[in-house]
Formats: sequence, structure tokens, C-alpha cells
Amino acid sequence: MLENSDCFVYLKSTLMTLSKKTFRRLREIVGKKNCLRDKEDLACYAYDATGLTYMPDAVLFPENTAEVSSILTLANRDGFFVIPRGAGSGMTGGSLAVKQGVIVVMTRFNRIIQIDKDNLVAHVEPGVVTAILHNAVEKKGLFYPPDPASSEFCTLGGNMAECSGGPRAVKYGVTRDYVLGLEVVLPTGEIINTGVQTSKGVVGYDLTRLIVGSEGTLGIITRMVLRLLPLPESVRIMKAAFSEMETAAATVSAIMNHGIIPRSIEYMDNASIRCAEGYLKTGLPVKAAALLIIEADGKQEDADRSIKELGAICRSMGAVDIQIAKNNEESENIRKARKALSPALFEYGPDKINEDIVVPKSRIPDMVKKIKEIKIETGLIIVSFGHAGDGNIHVNVMLDKKNIEDVRKAEYAIDTLFDYTLELGGTISGEHGIGITKSNYIKKEIGLVEIALMKKIKDTFDPEGILNPGKIFYENSI
Ligand SMILES: Cc1cc2nc3c(=O)[nH]c(=O)nc-3n(C[C@H](O)[C@H](O)[C@H](O)COP(=O)(O)OP(=O)(O)OC[C@H]3O[C@@H](n4cnc5c(N)ncnc54)[C@H](O)[C@@H]3O)c2cc1C
Repeated sequence: MLENSDCFVYLKSTLMTLSKKTFRRLREIVGKKNCLRDKEDLACYAYDATGLTYMPDAVLFPENTAEVSSILTLANRDGFFVIPRGAGSGMTGGSLAVKQGVIVVMTRFNRIIQIDKDNLVAHVEPGVVTAILHNAVEKKGLFYPPDPASSEFCTLGGNMAECSGGPRAVKYGVTRDYVLGLEVVLPTGEIINTGVQTSKGVVGYDLTRLIVGSEGTLGIITRMVLRLLPLPESVRIMKAAFSEMETAAATVSAIMNHGIIPRSIEYMDNASIRCAEGYLKTGLPVKAAALLIIEADGKQEDADRSIKELGAICRSMGAVDIQIAKNNEESENIRKARKALSPALFEYGPDKINEDIVVPKSRIPDMVKKIKEIKIETGLIIVSFGHAGDGNIHVNVMLDKKNIEDVRKAEYAIDTLFDYTLELGGTISGEHGIGITKSNYIKKEIGLVEIALMKKIKDTFDPEGILNPGKIFYENSI
């Protein structure tokens, strides 16, 4: 029974190539200027933040929902794969054409249609860059909390598909908590509307939640209704340096038990601190074993009081140096250090494997200790930082992928890391998704019956298996 449903989806996901006739039809749908087929153009859409590359057969830039629908309808008729793409900043290969096919880039869907202050909602298109929405709503005294560190360049469509998080998730939650409704083109070409435009709604199954986080495998999002909050009056930020990683980790638990929910608590280990300092030169404490970057927000007097209390907790737990930013410039310098980290890491090696495990907050000290042990055992450089307030640690294993011994050690490191994460009651991905890079690990976390059910859902949405094949479910995983 299981084997049959498994084969059903994947027999259809074999390599299909694009005929000249089909390509001509695609060009008619989106127009000549919105259609690329030259190799040098295709190469620009063959990669994402994983550094992996897969050449697509064509790249399209549709401008409206009807065009997306026509592309998907044609894909079912002529048999080619369609891969939705935003800015290509994904960390797990979700937007890559792993089985060739047509990349549908959603960046022309870049309108903020309405910011409705009375009802605290925004109607937006998926190609809008996240930071552009942040700025637009903040000008009106409103707040859209999800803030992946990539917010200056990633798109809201990508955020929906990955259910992105970010530093503020510790207080405000992740993308799914701010999506009220979606317009989606199903893989069959049908257009559906999910959810509501109100702050509540429980009519029927929650298709919105199903599609958010589905990594572009169940439909192409063409419009969304997002929930907004009033903009907090004041945000204060501080950094606290620790001489022991374990003490910094224990401080996170102490803060979370104290009764103040910080806006963010970001963690950087010594390798991250040195790396960010080498890149930015903003005076980070390079000798510290770990750094916590903590923010508090609210009314002016509440944010001021909270940041002082948070500083006091850090001191009582053993922080060796605490700096509360006094002005915007100091605040920005602290924030920049954390945001620059991901690209700065390549200083430690030509390749990195980036994992984003989550453990229960109280188990962060155990996880930090385990990462230290894995580092010593493998001899690899492992850099960790992340959204400690959520227990979400980005573990970056640095290596040279051409070196077989490095690859073997890295695989062992990841295996051990994932096993221990699950033993602690955690999850192997907090916000980057599974894509292709984690697909052979999914069965470590999810049972066979649950995986089979997920595949049946995929099959119901996408009977011909044309949308974003090869993602999430490793084909030989069961
Ligand atoms: C430096 C850096 C920092 C990062 N920091 C964070 C962080 O703090 N938190 C976090 O969560 N992530 C982070 N990321 C990962 C990444 O930015 C997010 O996953 C982001 O949401 C991807 O958006 P994108 O527009 O680049 O999507 P892409 O990479 O283009 O696509 C990602 C997935 O979304 C699908 N997709 C895109 N648009 C649509 C659509 N309209 N409809 C359906 N499916 C669609 C694609 O098929 C793919 O599966 C970071 C990445 C980088 C490079």
C-alpha cells in the first residue's frame, strides 16, 4: 500500500524536456520579453543560496494570475515541470530545477495593493521584497513582524512557501501567524482563494496553513492577505559577551523564564563573532566565547525598563561585558553584525552545509555542548549562531566539498546533530524547509504513515506531478 502510493507520485516525476512547440506557446502566454531561453540567461536562475546549480529549460516572468494559470494548464497538457521562484535566497534548493523544466519567477508580482489601517491587514503580491513591505507599513504606524535576515532581498512569496522565521519570531511568531488568506494557482491551473480577510475564520479545512510552508509544491501563490500589528513605539538593543558558551545558552533559558518576552535573542559563538568582526569591523568582542544580541520593544518606558532588566539578568548569569545601544547608530551596528554573518562565513572554507535545527529552549545548553563535542570529534570548523530565543540554532559545517574526507566527516556531523536534536525533542528545520538538501533526512523525524499521507495530499493537488518535483520527499526515502 505504502509502496504503491510512493511510486504513483514519483513515476510521473521523471525527466521531461520542453519541445520547441511548447516553448513557442509559453512565449505567447507571457510575451517575448518575459521569456528566457539562452544559456547565459538561464544560468542566472540555476542557483540559490545552497550554491548548488541545475540548469532549467526556460525562465518565465508572468505578470498576472491568468498567465500563471495558463502556464500550469499547459504543463499538464504538454508534460513539463514548473518551478516557482522568488529571489532565489532559499537555503535548501526549493527553487532549483532539479529535473529541468520551466522556472516561473514571481518578481513581477510586486504590488502592495492595499494597506488597510482600520482592519490591520495588507493585500500584497508575492514578488514584493519583505523589507519593502516592512517600510511601507511602518510609514503608516503599522508592523509586519516576520523578518528573515534576508529581508532586504527575499520575497514574500518565498517567505510564505518556506514559512520563514527570523529574530522576532521569539515574541511575534513566524510567517504562518500573519497569513489570513491566499490566492493560489493550483498545479492543475485552477485558481483558488483560501482563508479570510478577517482576523478570525474557521470555515472548512485550513488550506492557508497547508499551503504556507509547502515549499512551492502545492501551488503558486499569486496574492496574499497579511495580518498587521500596531508598530511598537520603541525598540532597544543590547549585546552581552560571555566567556563560556554554556553560560550564554543558560542565560537564554533564564531570560525566557523571567517574565519579559524579548523582541529577539540572537546567539553567536566565537567563530561567528570573529567572522562578523573581520567583515564589518564594528568592535565586536572577538575574545568572547559567545555573544547574545537582545532586543526589547513596546512603549518607550517599557522598552527602556525591559532592556535594563535583560542586562541585569545577563550580568547575574555571568556576562563579562554588556553594552546597551544609546543611539540609532550603535543599534544598527549591533544588528548589522548578526545580519552579515551568513555570507561572511565563507572566510572559513569554500563550502558550507547550513542546518537550522530547533530544540526546546531549556535544552539549548545541551545542544551547545553537543556541537562542541562534534567539532572536536570531526576536527571540522563548525560555526553556530541563530535565533536562540526560539531554540533555533543555525549550525554551519564548513568544508571543502572536493575533499572526500571532509564530506564524510560532514555527513557524520549532520547525522549526529540531527539524531541528538530529535532525542532532545526538537526538529531538523525551524525555517529553511527541507527542499532537496534535507530530503533524505525527513524520515528521521516523520513517520511512514505521515509521509504517505503528505504524498497523497501532494497527489491530490498535483495529479500529474508537474509542480516543483524532487522537493521535500526523497524519492527512495521509503
Ligand atoms: C543571508 C541569508 C539569510 C537568511 N536568513 C533567514 C532567516 O533569518 N529566516 C528564514 O526563515 N530564512 C532565512 N533565509 C532563507 C531565505 O531567505 C528564505 O527561505 C526566504 O523566504 C526565501 O525567499 P525567496 O524569495 O528568496 O524564495 P526562493 O529561494 O526563490 O524560493 C524558496 C521556495 O519558495 C517557493 N516559492 C517562491 N515564490 C513562490 C510563490 N509565489 N508561490 C509558491 N512558491 C513559491 C520556491 O519554489 C521555493 O521552494 C536566509 C537566506 C540568506 C541567503
